[in-house]
Amino acid sequence: MSAQETFGNGKYEAVIGLEVHAQMLTETKIFCGCSTKFGAEPNTQTCPVDIGMPGVLPVLNKKAVEFAIKTGLAMGCRISTYSRFARKNYFYPDLPKGYQVSQYELPICEGGHIDIVVDGAVKRIGITRIHMEEDAGKNIHESSSGNYSFVDLNRAGVPLMEIVSEPDIRTPKEAAEYMRKMRSILRYLGVCDGNMEQGSLRCDANISMRPVGQKEFGIRAELKNMNSFRFIEKALEYEINRQISVLEEGGKVVQETRLWDSAAGVTQSMRTKEEAHDYRYFPEPDLVPIEVTQEWIKGIEAGLPELPDAKRERFVSSYGIPEYDAELLTSERAISDWYERAVTAGGQPKAVSNWMMGELMRLLNEENKSLEDCLLKPEQLAGMLKLMDNGTISGKIAKTVFEEMYRGGKDADAVVKEKGLVQISDEGAIEKAIDEVLARSAKEVERYRAGDEKLIGFFVGQVMKAMKGKANPQLLNDLLKRKLQ
Ligand code: ADP
Ligand code: MG
Repeated sequence: MSAQETFGNGKYEAVIGLEVHAQMLTETKIFCGCSTKFGAEPNTQTCPVDIGMPGVLPVLNKKAVEFAIKTGLAMGCRISTYSRFARKNYFYPDLPKGYQVSQYELPICEGGHIDIVVDGAVKRIGITRIHMEEDAGKNIHESSSGNYSFVDLNRAGVPLMEIVSEPDIRTPKEAAEYMRKMRSILRYLGVCDGNMEQGSLRCDANISMRPVGQKEFGIRAELKNMNSFRFIEKALEYEINRQISVLEEGGKVVQETRLWDSAAGVTQSMRTKEEAHDYRYFPEPDLVPIEVTQEWIKGIEAGLPELPDAKRERFVSSYGIPEYDAELLTSERAISDWYERAVTAGGQPKAVSNWMMGELMRLLNEENKSLEDCLLKPEQLAGMLKLMDNGTISGKIAKTVFEEMYRGGKDADAVVKEKGLVQISDEGAIEKAIDEVLARSAKEVERYRAGDEKLIGFFVGQVMKAMKGKANPQLLNDLLKRKLQ
């Protein structure tokens, strides 16, 4: 075990297992034909089935089953040819039926894994099971409505997958990495939009501590309500310290559900085991068991896209870029497609990677934009790299050109012409600028000649400034050194 995996001065190890809820990207709900579209006026996407009227009968959405199988296959699970739904009984105002239709003893997928990369090493996290269930509605408590609360049932009946991990995760960082990979795979598959802010991907984390070397797991707490990678990491870090303090003081961790309060940066007890629900699961009598044929499974498998891990390995082997670059470039399908288009258009693979991970991501992040709404096309980046290669523009000018291209969606040639950004490689012109700078920098010249060679940067900067950044840098360096000798 490496030191990064222990806590409390090397005394304790954390054991973490995540339960992820992913909203499936089906157009309609899991047991009725209502729309699943996010953001509609409250209670406009409901019907007698999802509001739980007596006597109605659910009809299973085939697409939801297909998406669950697809996800299971992508995560290396066994797909159950026979599974069924169960009623999970509990009372809450956002659950009009008084029970949630879920799966219990016979889930649709079992026994898979997700590989994550942490500090350069691959680690495999086991998946215990994936089951399907319906989402509940949403309670709305607004201070402006006085003593009233509201219930919006648009979300009731939206299909969810619950993906349960084995307790294989050992650090908050691994947990966040697992979530990132999970999101990436779900988005590649097109089964979930991964929007954590809107709640279409959320996770509960179970965490316990045990003394290093002990085999048995400690008593765990379950953390709810974490809707960002950062919160998952923060909440787990907080919880590790809290549980260690309890243990160090000779106390016992209480098995309970805790809520992450992101504003206060703490987890708070929500309910203990004594108050825990007895869900009284039993097989859902209104739905027949789900029988899945091998043919159907094979068909879905044949349609799986190339997934992030496979793509990362291919990027490393066919483009010769570092693992690190490949990992970032394949995290999103859209990013990897953009990358490959730029390389196919003639861009040198590492150069394309550098510009994408550097300038492009910086500009997109600044405006909170995604690649889909980026004016700059991959072929245009390849075009700009060509101008750098043949010496038309310097690396410094390229940054200006890139930003112009990004803002206006114009080709590099056009930007260079319009803004007069062609690199100056005329020795005479550069020499003239150097002479002027040296003439007015007698003191610096003296110091340089006396051995202060760092001053070369100062001279280069002055000349570049005089030439508006357009001097050929190599030529400028050579000429300057010659003159200073
Ligand atoms: P529940 O039915 O209460 O949700 P499960 O046994 O299904 O409990 O486990 C839920 C999650 O908790 C799983 O991801 C599992 O890996 C994890 N888990 C179970 N025991 C522990 C433990 N002692 N410490 C940390 N995580 C645990
Ligand atoms: Mg649980």
